[in-house]
Amino acid sequence: MRGAIDGGAESRLGCREVHRVLQAFLDGEVDPLQGELVAAHLESCARCQVEEQVLTGVIDALRRLRPDLDLAAYTRLVEVAEELTDHERG
Ligand SMILES: [Zn+2]
Repeated sequence: MRGAIDGGAESRLGCREVHRVLQAFLDGEVDPLQGELVAAHLESCARCQVEEQVLTGVIDALRRLRPDLDLAAYTRLVEVAEELTDHERG
């Protein structure tokens, strides 16, 4: 990951940035400052809240159903699919 959030000037994240780090955020893999920014964005953005819930639900269900599944590969697929649908929406 190349420094998506560097420099102190921009203190709020856009949906794009949140989308990019959401999975790492849910896995607790972002640093505390970044985590705060993501949490703040989620509080004020219904669209990203839905995405968080979907992502959490999918990962949780998959872990239960298929503990042997390679989640990293799966979530990459989800990302690619979402990028495609984003593109379609414009
Ligand atoms: Zn958002």
